[in-house]
Amino acid sequence: MSREELPLPLPDSPELSEILRTKELRRIYKYLFERRDDPPTQVEIDAHLAELTGERHSQRGRRVRQLYPFFWIDKTPGRRPRYVLSAGKPIVPDGDKIDDAKRARVLQPARCAMCGRTPLEDGVKLVVDHKIPQEWGGTNADENLQPLCEQCNNGKKNHFKSYDPYVEQIRLAATYDEPQRRIGELLKAFGTTEWVRSDLLAIVANAKEYQEDWQRRMRDLRFLGWDYEYKRKTEDGRVRTYYRLRKSAPWPDNIIAAIRAEAAKRGKKSSLDKNPEG
Ligand SMILES: [Zn+2]
Repeated sequence: MSREELPLPLPDSPELSEILRTKELRRIYKYLFERRDDPPTQVEIDAHLAELTGERHSQRGRRVRQLYPFFWIDKTPGRRPRYVLSAGKPIVPDGDKIDDAKRARVLQPARCAMCGRTPLEDGVKLVVDHKIPQEWGGTNADENLQPLCEQCNNGKKNHFKSYDPYVEQIRLAATYDEPQRRIGELLKAFGTTEWVRSDLLAIVANAKEYQEDWQRRMRDLRFLGWDYEYKRKTEDGRVRTYYRLRKSAPWPDNIIAAIRAEAAKRGKKSSLDKNPEG
């Protein structure tokens, strides 16, 4: 497997704080960094963190996985693998900068993708917006860019700021191959007490490839034993839908196959029949 590797930032460096937003993750990083020549097992990592934070080992394994979107962490073979912090992962691909030509291409519809206002008729100024913000791992690829008026862009930025405490989970959720899993992991990150606004779900559902109807992918979760509720709320003249997890379930080995099988068993058509994925 060929992979692109970046140098590892030093623990406690400003560069690392840019990549890992929480102290908790930076602690794990520091530990893995310092033990690169003698990589620790999961038990050792848990013990180290428990000692630092006074927590129990309840989050076993979860925390190291949260570093996966940002760093190459290799596991040694065997029953008690050791975690080897090897290199950084590129977040924004090089050679994909927003130059004048790209900017012009993105702004070409000359209409805000959110409110529909135009510079010509409404006098708004359009800016290039990252659908998935760069801090969440969004790239400068064309499909991640859209024209927004400054007002919508600021509104979006302010709303997304409220998700800052979840940024690592959002980034992690966006890395999974199956849209159902991306959606599920995002809901899980917010737990059963927090509501998640639909535009955030849409963004994460669309993270790898555009989902024509991500709500269907969300309904697929019910075939896997998941349950969630929703509510509508009017905000700034727009009706917004919020979702909240009620119950999650472990992921089967083959998510797509499991959804098809369960749908067949219940005698219902899953959305996948309409949209075959091989
Ligand atoms: Zn707008």
